[in-house]
Amino acid sequence: MTDRPRHHPALRSFAEPDEPMPPLALAGPTHRMGLNENPYGPTEAVQQAILRSCRDGHRYPSMDNGELTALLASRREVPAEMVVAGPGLVALCRGLVHATAGPGDEVVLPWPSFDDYLVDALLHEAVPVRSPLREHRLDLDDIADRVGPRTRLVFLCNPNNPTGTAFTQEALERFLDAVPPRVTVVLDEAYHEFGTAPDLADGLRALPDRGNLCVLRTFSKAYGLAGLRVAYAIAHPVVSAALRNVMLPFGLSRVAEAAAVAALHDEPEITRRVRRIVSERESMTARLHTAGWPVVPSQGNFVWLALGRHAAAVALRLATAGIAVRAYPGHGIRITATTSPDTERLLHVLEEISLHQHEEGVPCRT
Ligand SMILES: *Cc1c(COP(=O)(O)O)cnc(C)c1O
Repeated sequence: MTDRPRHHPALRSFAEPDEPMPPLALAGPTHRMGLNENPYGPTEAVQQAILRSCRDGHRYPSMDNGELTALLASRREVPAEMVVAGPGLVALCRGLVHATAGPGDEVVLPWPSFDDYLVDALLHEAVPVRSPLREHRLDLDDIADRVGPRTRLVFLCNPNNPTGTAFTQEALERFLDAVPPRVTVVLDEAYHEFGTAPDLADGLRALPDRGNLCVLRTFSKAYGLAGLRVAYAIAHPVVSAALRNVMLPFGLSRVAEAAAVAALHDEPEITRRVRRIVSERESMTARLHTAGWPVVPSQGNFVWLALGRHAAAVALRLATAGIAVRAYPGHGIRITATTSPDTERLLHVLEEISLHQHEEGVPCRT
């Protein structure tokens, strides 16, 4: 096979994953607890807006997604030029790496965290520099220490996916003071709306003094629009202009924009749903803890079981019972907080697993 099509050299790093990923679920009915989706579909108002937007499906969206951008600017109290909307937070992450880093440049990222940071760096032939978590938390001092002369961009994820831990405003400010202003700091706040800690960092509060900070938020999680692909970045005009330059033209569809606008106008209902999910997260955490599982308190719409070397086996057992979770082999499993029937089923199956494993002499409960 010497004459097959040639690919970009960066794709060599994607040859083989370290460990095969267990399938998300093997048997039905499937409890979708593996992708941090919102269990509630688009509200009635959002569905109506989606239908209306289809009537203009023969027209391109506006070049700058002006309606959504203006609404976000007014809600988040920033000038519209600081807002960039895009088809998913993943697209904005990729755009930010594209805008800042090339071959040999360094991208510093926490690990384990959102996988796309690593992929985005590798795709641009940048060198990913991983900072290991400490007690399931981002180690901001270590991340700052790993910033060097070749560093172009740093990813932070708060609350962190997959561990659910979060840092404070004070910690964020201290970190930003320690990083040179020539380095872009991308703060992924995909789960911000689920945060309940009183001192949870809010990237938007840090923005006024920081020309190198870019805050990312998404409609996929709290707003329940994962299938429609809408997210946004807020950053200083220098960063937002660079990002806008590299985003695909017309990448955000009319339908997605209309859905996001309608969801912003339906905020009270969105907030009720978020509260329900947060209360599910809290009861799930308490019950897992009581049952002896190594559950880490979370600020997202998911919980982390720090199962270490048992992670893949437990995920496989859950998949066999129709429960999809996300496994991080060697680290743990991430379980989305959804509805109480899902939680009941999860706890029931976990109970069976722990009994079974006890018999086999491989307890994964701590
Ligand atoms: C889910 C998730 C995203 C993906 O957001 P999209 O807007 O759906 O692309 C980004 N970052 C983190 C940390 C996530 O968990």
